[in-house]
Amino acid sequence: HKNPKSDIEIAQAAKMKRIAEVAKDSLGIDADKLEPYGHYKAKLSLDYIKTLEKKPDGKLILVTAMTPTPAGEGKTTTTVGLGDGLNRIGKKAIICLREPSLGPCFGMKGGAAGGGYAQVVPMTDINLHFTGDFHAIGVANNLLAALVDNHIYWGNQLGLDERRIIWRRVVDMNDRALRNIVNSLGGIADGFPREDHFDITVASEVMAIFCLATDIDDLKRRLGNIIVGYTREKKPVFAKDLDAHGAMTVLLKDAFQPNLVQTLENNPAFIHGGPFANIAHGCNSVLATKTALKLADYVVTEAGFGADLGAEKFLDIKCRKAGLKPEIAVVVATIRALKMHGGVAKEDLGKENVKAVIDGAENLSRHVENLKKFGLLVIVAINKFSADTKEEVDQVRQICAELGVDAIESDHWGNGGAGAKDLAKAVVKKIDQNGSNYAPLYNDALPLWDKVRTVAQTLYGAQGIIADKKVRDQFKELQDGGFGHYPVCIAKTQYSFSTDPNLKGAPSNHVVPIREVRISGGAEFVVAVCGNIMTMPGLPRIPAANSIDVNEAGEIVGLF
Ligand code: ADP
Ligand code: MG
Repeated sequence: HKNPKSDIEIAQAAKMKRIAEVAKDSLGIDADKLEPYGHYKAKLSLDYIKTLEKKPDGKLILVTAMTPTPAGEGKTTTTVGLGDGLNRIGKKAIICLREPSLGPCFGMKGGAAGGGYAQVVPMTDINLHFTGDFHAIGVANNLLAALVDNHIYWGNQLGLDERRIIWRRVVDMNDRALRNIVNSLGGIADGFPREDHFDITVASEVMAIFCLATDIDDLKRRLGNIIVGYTREKKPVFAKDLDAHGAMTVLLKDAFQPNLVQTLENNPAFIHGGPFANIAHGCNSVLATKTALKLADYVVTEAGFGADLGAEKFLDIKCRKAGLKPEIAVVVATIRALKMHGGVAKEDLGKENVKAVIDGAENLSRHVENLKKFGLLVIVAINKFSADTKEEVDQVRQICAELGVDAIESDHWGNGGAGAKDLAKAVVKKIDQNGSNYAPLYNDALPLWDKVRTVAQTLYGAQGIIADKKVRDQFKELQDGGFGHYPVCIAKTQYSFSTDPNLKGAPSNHVVPIREVRISGGAEFVVAVCGNIMTMPGLPRIPAANSIDVNEAGEIVGLF
């Protein structure tokens, strides 16, 4: 079946509860522990969060997916649906999601608040300015940029080499005109002109730091450790050298409190932080996840892109650093995406094609096997689309059975929590068997180069990794410079296990070229860039912005 209504129509028809009521009824949180932003959004006070420290943790469930295709997989939708499904079967569950970026909203991606009858609300607020967190993160980033240029203007005591400044400005908009700019034009009073760059806010290291920091002190410490550039002698200059970290923390203090909203079924949802899943780790904030674990028996969270990127970073960066112990990975698959990996063109996805499903399942199988390597329990969720046929779904079940995992069809998009009850029951049953034994893929002590190689060989199916001497030297410098114990954050295309976006399925024996290494000194990981990674997207020829409007009734129209 098809939903007769669009996502925004469903969301606008939602019967929301006051957020204080959601907090009280579902989580037992009194109103004075909340900082309300209107009636339907609230931040949770940091003092209150501190009082939860000694409480036991609930079970952490990761929602991830097979390799994305233009057909769409539905991780966020499944996260919301599974959370509602768990609440439906009488479990106390909270979902944790990332905050959407404004850029894609006005570009082409669509919303990031779920879809159909599995959404978080107020959907338009969440997709637009929400509680202003991204604004705060952007301004903190840009304060540091202003301090850098101001330092140079007033004499450059630290000896920053203007050609070696790596800190960029950000804005939460897809704006290709700002990718490469010249700043400080004008004259003597306007500074020293230099080439500069803008990234989209979600690509800021401040965003990654915000999402990994465990408390305000840790946030400040990490901000101080941001490397803004180098001297002529190639010595790093840190944000703390510019005395920037205190003021940056002030700008982030309120934003750092997790945001509480609700699903269409009035169940609690934390939506907090939203880093890129390529040059950063792609998960919501550690603080929100940890708080949710104290407040609920089950916490369902999403990681960006496919499991080779999002789940790997969730497991090797976020969980390792935050001491989280996830139990199970729910791998979202769709018949449509399986068919695309099996070679079917987008126009032909509506037709039954069991053979293509079988061929495409290679991709799903690789992800399932990979997640087991982290010691996680695994379940496949088949996110039901209206064109799926019984033969196709049965085929996926059978392939998964051969891998020793259950594949559960779930209709949360069409039916909300009621449509996800089977999935919820299967997840609970699996967790109750106590079989999970999470460990990151590699140890801290493994050299940086070997960490990247381990991920490439073990998860991507690659023969190995290669890099020019210049890049290998950078690895060595970082290794010798005291960063060797950091995890690696691999930035590669999300469309393939390889670095070629056109290689679908489960390619093997390919080689992964590393083009560049970067250090995120505050986020505490080393980024290995494999391929072209866009940190400032552009708008398409006909941007979504062209059809977004406010109607006579004052309602937003055309937003998804
Ligand atoms: P992801 O988190 O993996 O990027 P989303 O959950 O945001 O994916 O879903 C992407 C788009 O696909 C949304 O617009 C959503 O409404 C749509 N979608 C998700 N699941 C279904 C489904 N079962 N049927 C139809 N559309 C769906
Ligand atoms: Mg998503």
